[in-house]
Amino acid sequence: MLKNNLGYPRVGAHRELKKASEQYWAGTISRDDLFTIAKAIRRQNWQLQQDAGIDLIPCNDFSLYDLVLDTSLMLGVIPQRYNPVLTQNPQNKEVDLYFAMARGYQKDGLDITAMEMTKWFDTNYHYIVPEFTANQQFRVFSEKVFEEFNLAKQALGTVPKPVLIGPVSYLLLGKEKEAGFDKISLIKKLVPVYIEILKKLQNQGAVWVQLDEPFLTMDLSREEKDAFIYAYAEIKKHCPNIKTLLTTYFDSLHKNSFLAVSLPVCALHLDLVRAPGQLDEVLKLIPGQLTLSLGVVDGRNIWKNDYIRSVGHIKTAVAAIGADRVMIAPSCSLLHTPADLDLETAINPEIKNWMAFAKQKLNEIKELGEIMEGNTPLLLQNIKAISARNLSKLIHKQAIKERAAAITDADATRTSEFKTRQKIQQDRFKLPLFPTTTIGSFPQTDDIRQLRAKLKKGVLLQEEYDAEIEHATIGAIRWQEDIGIDVLVHGEFERNDMVEYFGEQLDGFLFTKNGWVQSYGSRCVKPPVIYGDVSRPRDMTVRWSSFAQANTQKLMKGMLTGPVTILQWSFVRDDQPRSETANQIALAIRDEVVALEAAGIKMIQIDEPAIREGLPLRKADWDKYLDWAVKAFRISASGVQDETQIHTHMCYSEFNDIIRHIALMDADVITIETSRSQMELLEAFADFKYPAEIGPGVYDIHSPRVPAVEEMVSLLEKAAALLPVGNIWVNPDCGLKTRKWPETQAALTHMVEAARAAREIF
Ligand code: GLN
Ligand code: ZN
Repeated sequence: MLKNNLGYPRVGAHRELKKASEQYWAGTISRDDLFTIAKAIRRQNWQLQQDAGIDLIPCNDFSLYDLVLDTSLMLGVIPQRYNPVLTQNPQNKEVDLYFAMARGYQKDGLDITAMEMTKWFDTNYHYIVPEFTANQQFRVFSEKVFEEFNLAKQALGTVPKPVLIGPVSYLLLGKEKEAGFDKISLIKKLVPVYIEILKKLQNQGAVWVQLDEPFLTMDLSREEKDAFIYAYAEIKKHCPNIKTLLTTYFDSLHKNSFLAVSLPVCALHLDLVRAPGQLDEVLKLIPGQLTLSLGVVDGRNIWKNDYIRSVGHIKTAVAAIGADRVMIAPSCSLLHTPADLDLETAINPEIKNWMAFAKQKLNEIKELGEIMEGNTPLLLQNIKAISARNLSKLIHKQAIKERAAAITDADATRTSEFKTRQKIQQDRFKLPLFPTTTIGSFPQTDDIRQLRAKLKKGVLLQEEYDAEIEHATIGAIRWQEDIGIDVLVHGEFERNDMVEYFGEQLDGFLFTKNGWVQSYGSRCVKPPVIYGDVSRPRDMTVRWSSFAQANTQKLMKGMLTGPVTILQWSFVRDDQPRSETANQIALAIRDEVVALEAAGIKMIQIDEPAIREGLPLRKADWDKYLDWAVKAFRISASGVQDETQIHTHMCYSEFNDIIRHIALMDADVITIETSRSQMELLEAFADFKYPAEIGPGVYDIHSPRVPAVEEMVSLLEKAAALLPVGNIWVNPDCGLKTRKWPETQAALTHMVEAARAAREIF
């Protein structure tokens, strides 16, 4: 049985690539230095995979920024606006063009915007969106895939397996930049270039080639299905001897099962972690020659593999089609897991024994192979670890389980409906029309971050740290009062991150030192690990919110992160449904909400910026997810009296298809990101007749630009044309933690003036 890996983390176990590329961008290291570091990471990755006995070792899965962008460069899909990068400055090389496309280019008298970036399916990885024009041409432009093949071959002394994004998925990942054509119609022009590449790889000695077609797990139109049929028939016709491995992941093939098994490829990869049920389905349909690559080791999470379950799948497949047609693999590329658990020296050893990062997952693939050959001790050892986890007192807290099991609809429902609450709240707060507020955080300056670093190192005492944070908080309160903001925030100076801050205070969470996962380019995130039943041993934010409220006569909003966002931005336990974990977190947040209310906080914001990204890949599955996600939010928000105002905040750009559920969240006020779309997003709310109050963001916080008063007034006029004036709040798009103070102060001063101007008009 061949052991097959789909891809490996490329940032390096110590984030070497992040550091090197940032230095290269800053001009402090040379291009050659960058390449040397990038090569070293690859060599190390290949070595690790070879040591783990992986037979099909991927190459070209490495990327300096993003694999989709690599593909665009490989295929010559380079928007015209980047032409001057190479022509204007003869010093620039392909890699500079590449980074210009990724990050924009402001040098040599040029000012070229970056390409768009968006989330890779339902992961937190972001890719660079290919841009297609109506008469899009394709040609082999970048030689990276060939170079990397040679490099890997040299390093390994065996034949590596090049990884390419398949032609159909590549087109579907992109965007038409002109009207009047459908990107999928480009397939006929694109496939010949893929064939050219495959032939060249074959000449270099390639045997297996991996073609990633994750879109096979999504809803496909007739044209898209035809594109698959066309592309793979052509590839088979022109490259009959290359061994094609078609990979799918993140969901089941579902209705596309027959299509997928019918394509003339040598092997088909299935994600059996996300979608174990599809194995039987595929085995029923599988034609005589097709090999199956079984994705049994979870590439999306950090838990030790349950060998009994994996061996079950492998045995099922072997019984049906024979061992020589079965490969053992991770569910998807290991890109989405941190590099190496061995580097985590501070994790409780009992819990560490339940975990596996990328390096350990390679070993799991190897061990599964050995178990299939009869190594029973390995299986027994795994059974022991898995059952230790299943029974551990660290995970299982009866009282938490009972409380979550006892949640009723009443727990997820406010006492009165919105209209009644709104009346009570208006009488209580007496806010002007167009009340002004902000989303929570104020600039996290170096000074503030330093404080936390010093506290961690022990050079600053907790009292000293607290005093500094109090000082910053009071400063922020005073100037919010000075410029005349109506509802204040405390500024979140005490928080490192909106999820980490809560995770650190909740039971059931742990934090890694090096558990970095690439988010985009050089940006990595270090998600917390939810390993057990979640509870709130003590108040989390009451101290800071009541301190802030005590220092002003004005209304001070309490500030919390919602259960779905905490879940979404963590590695979640896989031994119970996500909805159950969400409910436990919701109860913890609910207790905090109630505690804030008891401490005299009259408005409480529960941020849920990640509700949308949790949506399943297929629309048919959306309702089920949204039902429990909305309910989790409602559980967290419904413990308070009618007179307490619950805010929520979301920052993304599509509400149309989930507006009904957003309304079901039943927040009194929602603040959203709208400025970049010029309030277009509000139409979804208007069309739906969204019942509650809305703060459409009037300025983009992603840029230091200070918008003029008139600009914001005109946005408010647009909003007023769409929504009842009495329901409109005035606020920025999102929190201000990434901004500097001068622009923040200037922009918010303008924002308050804009609100005053709007009050004059209406
Ligand atoms: N309250 C958070 C902040 O202002 C919200 C951040 C977010 O929406 N991502 O920073
Ligand atoms: Zn936001």
